[in-house]
Parts: sequence; C-alpha cells; structure tokens
Amino acid sequence: MNTSLFFFPRGGWNWPHLSLLLALPAYAWLAGRLGWQADLILTFGTLAGLAWLMLWERLRPARPDWQASAAELARDLGALGVNALVDAAAGLLIAGAALHWQAARAQPGLAQDLTPVLALPLAVALGELGPYWLHRAAHRLPWLWRFHALHHWPAALNASNSVLVHPVNLLWNKFARVAPWLLLGFSAEAMLWAALFIQLQSLAVHANLRGSLGPLNWLIGSAELHRWHHSVQAAEAHNYGTALPLWDQLFGSFVHRPGARPARVGWLAGAVRPRRAPYLGCC
Ligand SMILES: [Zn+2]
Repeated sequence: MNTSLFFFPRGGWNWPHLSLLLALPAYAWLAGRLGWQADLILTFGTLAGLAWLMLWERLRPARPDWQASAAELARDLGALGVNALVDAAAGLLIAGAALHWQAARAQPGLAQDLTPVLALPLAVALGELGPYWLHRAAHRLPWLWRFHALHHWPAALNASNSVLVHPVNLLWNKFARVAPWLLLGFSAEAMLWAALFIQLQSLAVHANLRGSLGPLNWLIGSAELHRWHHSVQAAEAHNYGTALPLWDQLFGSFVHRPGARPARVGWLAGAVRPRRAPYLGCC
C-alpha cells in the first residue's frame, strides 16, 4: 500500500465530515447547558448536520454531476417528512416497550453503569450489528430487496438522497438497532448520543464531499467506503455497515481502496431498473 496515501490522503482530508464529528462533544455540552430534551437534541442535531454537509457539497463536491436537482431535493424532502413521522411513531412504541421492560426487569441491565467512554462505542457497535445483517440479507433476499431497492435507485450519492429509504426499511433498522440497547440496559444518555452519531454518520457517508478520512477509514464509516456499497458492480458493492466498518471487517465484506472510487453508483448492473423510483417496494 502507498503509505503517503494511507497517512496523508490524496485530495486532502474530508474536513466537513471530520468537523461534524468533532463538534459532537461541544454540542453535548451546549445541549446540557440549555436543558434540551432528547427529541430536540436528535432533531436539531440531525437537521443541522444535514445543512452543514449540504452547504459543503455545494462548495467542495467530490463530483459536481452528483449535485441534487430541485426535483430530487423535493423528492428527498418528502421522504424525510414521511420517515420522520414513521420514526416518531416507532419511537413511541419503543418507549412504551422500554418502560414495560424496565418495570418487569428484576435487576438493572449489564450496560447500565458503564462509563460513557465504554458505553458509547459499545452502543454504536451493537446498534450496527443487527442492521448490518439485515442490510446484507436485503441484498440477497428478494422479499427484503423490494423495500431496500429504493435506497439504491439514485445514480448519484449525496447527503440529501441518504434519507431516501423505504419506511419498512427504516423500521427494521430502528428496531434492530434499539433492541440490544434495551436488552442490555444502556442508559438513556448513551442511547441518545449513539443514535445521533449513527444518524450523522448515515448522512456523512452518503455526502458528495471531496477528501478522505485517511487512516480513520479503518475505524469509522466514510463516504469513500460507502460509495463502494452503491457501486453498480455487485462484486464490489459491499460495506454494509454505515457508522462503523467493524462488522464488515469481521465478516469479510470490507472494501477499502484508498484513492479510488467506483466508476458508477446506483442500480446494480444487470438488474432491471424501473422508470420511476420504487416507492412502495413494488419491483
Ligand atoms: Zn444497500
């Protein structure tokens, strides 16, 4: 491997992505000072992160032809609205189940008293495990692909179309992510900040930004890694994890080619691409 590419990425660092993650501790401090509730922290953090990435996509795009058109922005905004409602309804359901579970549990959960330094990375890693396998299954099983296909429909990648996810796909991700957190009894704070980290990572790995995360690609998810997942070539369309590459590395689906990117992204080569986006899992 070219060591200069490894330590000092060609094309410079992806500062918009890095700065977004580096701002998280300051955001946690500020939200604590202002006494914000979890819903507000998540909503504001997600929208501010999306706006930050979209601003830099205009200033430093990796590929100018991947910029979202007005019609695509309207489509993605619609998906964001629908999914926000679905997510909120699922959140209520999960909160009810969590209260019931906590009341029925005889002892506090194993993860309840972990320090944040341990609890956060553990919560992120466990929160990624279920969605990793479901994502991998969705690329194999036609009845799951029906719902995941929408996310692979655009022939470009940017922060805006990262939210183009079928509500059913969103639901299975959310339940698979939260289930181990509740079973192991992570604190509400650990779940909140792990959820926000995963959410911001999901936006950043789709962002059309120049630059690289260099050696950090071995530790956290990046646009460089996730673009391979959206390649039209099935043989290289791996990297099923989003926030972390950990499960891809452990289970043999990790693709990392520093300095390179797929020739084309979008609908898998050879598969019949519908003329319209498969909104209802109809293809
Ligand atoms: Zn996929």
